[in-house]
Amino acid sequence: MGPPSTNKDDKKGTTAVKKDDPKPTSSFPGLFSLIIGAALGISAHLAFSSMSDTRGKVNNKSPELFRGMNGLEDAYDLVVVGAGLSGAVIAERAASQLGLRSLVIDKRSHIGGNCYDYLDEHGIRVSLYGVHIFHTKYPRVEDYVKQFSDFVDYQHRVLGEVKDVNDTVRTVPIPPNIDTVNTLFGTNLSSEQDMVDWLDQRRPKLDREPADGEEMSISRVGEDLYEKIFKPYTKKQWDKWPKELDASVLARLPVRTTRDDRYFNDPFQALPKDGYTAMFENILLNNPKITVRLNVDYFDVKDFLPQHKLLVFTGPIDAFYASKGLDKLEYRSIFWEREYVEPESGFYQPAWVVNHPSSDVGYTRISEYKHSPNQPPGAKDLPGTIIYKEYSTDHGDPYYPVPNPRNQDLYKKYQKLAENEPGVTFVGRLASYKYFNMDQAILNALELFDQLVEQKKIQ
Ligand code: UDP
Repeated sequence: MGPPSTNKDDKKGTTAVKKDDPKPTSSFPGLFSLIIGAALGISAHLAFSSMSDTRGKVNNKSPELFRGMNGLEDAYDLVVVGAGLSGAVIAERAASQLGLRSLVIDKRSHIGGNCYDYLDEHGIRVSLYGVHIFHTKYPRVEDYVKQFSDFVDYQHRVLGEVKDVNDTVRTVPIPPNIDTVNTLFGTNLSSEQDMVDWLDQRRPKLDREPADGEEMSISRVGEDLYEKIFKPYTKKQWDKWPKELDASVLARLPVRTTRDDRYFNDPFQALPKDGYTAMFENILLNNPKITVRLNVDYFDVKDFLPQHKLLVFTGPIDAFYASKGLDKLEYRSIFWEREYVEPESGFYQPAWVVNHPSSDVGYTRISEYKHSPNQPPGAKDLPGTIIYKEYSTDHGDPYYPVPNPRNQDLYKKYQKLAENEPGVTFVGRLASYKYFNMDQAILNALELFDQLVEQKKIQ
């Protein structure tokens, strides 16, 4: 890939993207104005009140009704905190299977949680909270999501910029496969057996389960690949060495012994044809039994909520129990630097996601959404492209639970409190403190719904 040329005339140049900067959605013109207001630095409150002259025309499709606590019923069956995957699935199941009414509140200005995507000012579909690739081995989850969107098949292939044995930066498949090894180590492996032999010479055979991330990684790919790809990337991603993390974190990527360069193994790998936000609109907004209110922080309104039989909480469990005086759970956050460039080829890099494991740069990966197969017509032919340099940080919205023994032990204490909390159920990545993929979050919510029904907690 040649060096990208930055279009100096473009005022959009390099901008730090704040994770919570709301961005336009295609569907709600009112939300769109709120968002533009926020982007201009005008507070949500001002943007909201500036729309009040349209109040006379409010009907049940008006975007104003998606904000604030106005116009609510006195009682709902469920109050669901969080309009991300877990909350959306519970509200949808409750409505479609049992005819129950849910009020879904979210402190953000949009639905969809971290899956939220939108068309940016260039007409490129981007995600506000990082790349989300849908993949699953669970037929139940596949069937479920297909009710709400058409899907475009997509096999995610990630490249990495990694130094070879001569310290030259090379672009190689990740997870490492035969080609990765040949490129980085100057070998000439050609068969699966060659690759297995190469790995076996470098990976110790453990007669027990790997105890931590380092043991897991070395027992899978050996010292050399571990040092080049996994150790430095993990340190940047988590600000912890693999040794300080659960083995499961380093077991997320498949081990490749062939030329297979896919990032995942699951049989269903695809993207919602019109993006995730459109899918969430179909889950949440087409059902009169579901009422959504945005820009509503549960902790601001918890004493003024309409009556409800069950509260479904999908936020961080330690925030729910902040008053109990337990230590706080650790979360990892992310921020992005966003850059508009006009490279000669129209593309900045050879893949949607290019990982940068090396400690030479601060970011972990660069994402170029123009590569995604669910771009609107014409997007791929634009002269420019948007890239996102992704950095990990301790501060900001919680994205990742940090799986290690300290946090798991602490989480168990919160879990005990949660088990004895009458009228509340906890679900999702933050409330269950689990490093779920999207499909696992959906499956977990579907199964929780079944349990709630079985236990007659909802009916
Ligand atoms: N990982 C790595 N190098 C890479 C890609 C992944 O060391 O080039 C490790 C790292 O510890 C990371 C974990 O594998 O946190 C899981 O990667 P994944 O891509 O699943 O992370 P996510 O997409 O959830 O951020």
